[in-house]
Amino acid sequence: MTLSTSSDTLAATLRGRLLLPGSVAFDQAATPWNLAVRQPAAAVVEAADADDVVTLVRHARAEGLAVAAQSTGHGATGDVAGTVLLRTGRLDAVTVDPAAGTARVGAGATWAAVQARTAPHGLTGLLGSAPGVGVTGYTLGGGLGWFSRVHGLAAHRVRSFDVVGADGEPGTVTATSDPDLFWALRGGGGDLAIVTALEIDLVEVPALTGGGVVWPADRAGAVLDAFREVTASAPRELSVWLTRVEPPGAPAMVVVRAAYLGDDVAARTLLRPFDAVGGALTGEVRPVALADVGSITADRPDPTAGLSHAELLTGVDDDALTRLLTSPVGPVTVVQLRHLGGALAEADPDDGATGAITEPYLLYALGLAHAPGLAAAVRARLDRLPDDLAHLATGRRPATFLSPGERASAAYSPDALARLQGLKRSRDPHGTIRGAYPLIA
Ligand SMILES: Cc1cc2nc3c(=O)[nH]c(=O)nc-3n(C[C@H](O)[C@H](O)[C@H](O)COP(=O)(O)OP(=O)(O)OC[C@H]3O[C@@H](n4cnc5c(N)ncnc54)[C@H](O)[C@@H]3O)c2cc1C
Repeated sequence: MTLSTSSDTLAATLRGRLLLPGSVAFDQAATPWNLAVRQPAAAVVEAADADDVVTLVRHARAEGLAVAAQSTGHGATGDVAGTVLLRTGRLDAVTVDPAAGTARVGAGATWAAVQARTAPHGLTGLLGSAPGVGVTGYTLGGGLGWFSRVHGLAAHRVRSFDVVGADGEPGTVTATSDPDLFWALRGGGGDLAIVTALEIDLVEVPALTGGGVVWPADRAGAVLDAFREVTASAPRELSVWLTRVEPPGAPAMVVVRAAYLGDDVAARTLLRPFDAVGGALTGEVRPVALADVGSITADRPDPTAGLSHAELLTGVDDDALTRLLTSPVGPVTVVQLRHLGGALAEADPDDGATGAITEPYLLYALGLAHAPGLAAAVRARLDRLPDDLAHLATGRRPATFLSPGERASAAYSPDALARLQGLKRSRDPHGTIRGAYPLIA
């Protein structure tokens, strides 16, 4: 039976909406944050609550359909043909227990919503650069942000996941209730269960300093030298990202952004090598309110058509990288180097599917594909990046930095991948759940 013949039954049982192709409402509900991706789903369900998720999964299982869960669509891949796209945006409740230092987060909540409630207590979740990103997709993929050098991945701060399994049964997964699935959900992606809520540990932040400084692109070589110097000895409380930006129709720039878990005096001392570069156009490092972590990168909050490519790197002391950051990269608009290390390199493989990220740097490149025909040119330039990086790229990338067309296998060690695939076979033998990057491709 196809969905169209059984949809009346499903629609009558849901508290939320079932939308079928052919309506404006369907088109809107199927449009992800990343406008470069089209989602040709068989239907969209906007769940009103966790019971709707149970109803949908049971229905899908009975009808031989697959369900693809999504909150914001920041991580959309378009690999949803024939599936029911489950939009979780209405499951957005966030409650904070300041005394316990925890938050309970609905599957559709964004980091912005979490930060708004935790920051007044001096607490934060381990969000990434953009507060508009969904907590669930980010955390299921590991989640690597400003505080990860001290506190590790967001996935490692999850206490429990409320899920609906591929058999349609709801349950709570903890380290003791279901150690295998708990391990898998901590970084292994959304291919094994639908999450309806999660409980996370928050971390205390007594002081936060952050900001960015902008130079014209002709200072890129000197800025990269300073970046090497600073990151070679940075304490784990300091995270520094270096970005070459080539805005269409405007001069190229180099931007250094930093976050420091401490006061601004200490931050400026640690960042002093950048002062010697000279010629900065604008910018400063200043105390930042916890609720404003997103202001450090000021990523665009609005839906954007973006194509990206990421590579974990073994180092930055190579001519290839210097060339990449000092030469035009258009039509790619952003080439960013994130300093990793610290707690990220120390994770135990038993902590979660991501394991340790021992590479000290992550390269992330992004091109905008708003204009017709631009996507192919951006894609072609992004595809050449691994060649440009010569031997520096290990070929692995964090799961949250996979891009459409890539495989889950690029994110995991062979042992972790085999364990994830074994779980997929045993927990979801009929393929009822479809993550953005299926474990068995
Ligand atoms: C502007 C921008 C900035 C970013 N910055 C960072 C960063 O600093 N660090 C970082 O690590 N990543 C970053 N990312 C990547 C981001 O973490 C991933 O794209 C992540 O998947 C987005 O999660 P989401 O829930 O918002 O996206 P969605 O597209 O809604 O979800 C992505 C995938 O997560 C899974 N998923 C979502 N909800 C559920 C659910 N309820 N149950 C089961 N599976 C589910 C599904 O497989 C889904 O396809 C960034 C992305 C963008 C676009």
